[in-house]
Amino acid sequence: MPTNTGAMLDPRFMGMPTFIRAPYTTDLKGLDIAMVGVPYDGGVTNRPGARHGPREIRNASSMMRTLNPATRNSPYDDLNVADVGDVPLTEMYDPAKTVDEIAAFYEGIVAAGVRPLTAGGDHSISYPILKAVAAKSPVALIHFDAHCDTWDQFQGSRFMHGAPFRRAHEDGLIVGEKTLQIGIRGSQIIPDGWDYSEGAGMKVVFMHQVEEIGINGIIDLCRQTVGDMPGYLTFDIDGLDPVFAPGTGTPEVGGFTTREALAFLRGLRGLDIVGGDVVEVAPSYDSSGVTSLAGATMMYEILCLMADAPSLPKNG
Ligand code: MN
Ligand code: MN
Repeated sequence: MPTNTGAMLDPRFMGMPTFIRAPYTTDLKGLDIAMVGVPYDGGVTNRPGARHGPREIRNASSMMRTLNPATRNSPYDDLNVADVGDVPLTEMYDPAKTVDEIAAFYEGIVAAGVRPLTAGGDHSISYPILKAVAAKSPVALIHFDAHCDTWDQFQGSRFMHGAPFRRAHEDGLIVGEKTLQIGIRGSQIIPDGWDYSEGAGMKVVFMHQVEEIGINGIIDLCRQTVGDMPGYLTFDIDGLDPVFAPGTGTPEVGGFTTREALAFLRGLRGLDIVGGDVVEVAPSYDSSGVTSLAGATMMYEILCLMADAPSLPKNG
């Protein structure tokens, strides 16, 4: 299925919106990378609305083209990339069943030999995705976020959006010493999540440390930590400053600019990124659409990284 044709050449305002203008299909056969929406926000602890993220990110994706201005990546050239639609959720008022349902959908993708790139949804969806992606062997994790998301539970739920990487670590899906959490900030009631991350050997880069380390320092730290291990990249839009991404449920001031985030992602080129997600875009607080555009753009940059992954066979 050629992907660098058709809709990609159309004017930006024309046609049906799909993720990064890829063709829509539900047939996984022959695909290299599947882009998926998970319209679920049953795990939020503050403002809801990320269930509307996939639809608005698809719309904002109309601004994406093939050729990366910085790296000259063109992820559609040698690969078959498609939008395979949304996970068809049927149990969304039951978080534990939703975890199983999302995991089952991604198990189908992985079984077909396809790598997933996801738009959420709240951050709880990364746990069931990792259950599928890391089912056979654990992965390194590059986690961009204002929050560690390694808390144990909230209001009795172990599947809320502040817990996915604690669950993933407990299940042996991610390697603590091969995990970086970047951009952490905001006050807390107790240090449970911070402590769990550091106790698990994760490298936690607090936002106040970024001033000293700089973006290049963070890139170096990522490259050293992940090495040549298969890695999963999870991008919580609230890692960006709310000035750049107001449309999210748990905003924290003092975050990254979009320009810093682009430099960071482009600096990871060559790492073996086998899957990724962009989560927590909540369009109802995004009056200008800038958060959805940031989400779509970061998704494109992660697609470029996945297309360059050393372990991904290229057609060309
Ligand atoms: Mn998060
Ligand atoms: Mn967050």
